[in-house]
Amino acid sequence: MIARKTPAKYSSIDSAEQLGIAATNRVDQLSPNSDRNNIRLNQNVPTDDTSFIEQVKNSNLYAGHSRANDPTTGKHIGSTIHINPNNSREYIAHELGHHITDNTEIGHMVRNLRNNPKLAIALAAAGGGLGIPFVQSALQEGDDDAVAGMAISALMASPVLVDEALATKNGLAIMKDAGMKATPGQRARLAGGYLSYLSAPIMAGLGGNFLGNYADDYTAVYDL
Ligand SMILES: [Zn+2]
Repeated sequence: MIARKTPAKYSSIDSAEQLGIAATNRVDQLSPNSDRNNIRLNQNVPTDDTSFIEQVKNSNLYAGHSRANDPTTGKHIGSTIHINPNNSREYIAHELGHHITDNTEIGHMVRNLRNNPKLAIALAAAGGGLGIPFVQSALQEGDDDAVAGMAISALMASPVLVDEALATKNGLAIMKDAGMKATPGQRARLAGGYLSYLSAPIMAGLGGNFLGNYADDYTAVYDL
């Protein structure tokens, strides 16, 4: 539960700073000249007065990522990470993973497609205007080779799924970098969160076999 009122065993309270540093370092490695590697942390703790409905409605405040713009120029300069510091730390790692993803070339494009479904539909209608070979060759380390096959075939169908997979990949990487390698329980929670994004039509399209394997392998493939 992401609206918890007391700290988890390995909470974000003690790890936010180290994971944040690991995230900016990873961006520096993957995209050395990035001008959008700033992170702002927005911490929200539910109180006894916070109703369950409010918790559900505001779940993005307890684990969420949004782009941050310069208030004067409107320029995209990084990310705002929304977190409940009581949460187990894989949640903040995942949200920081979105920051890293948004700083790679393909990850940034995926995020744009996610934010603008009309653009995704237009590209799909154009019959692969992006071209699969182009996408393949443009993948960077942070874009994840292991899920590239899935990513490319799913990209047009659902940028959300690709964006979420990449965020977890990068989140697991910074946990490892920060000396907090994810436990099996932490991996399982991230995989469970991921599967909640799969809508019925997509699951039908992927087929039962693929989905079953994917659920098992989802975090194992990363070896992080
Ligand atoms: Zn996410």
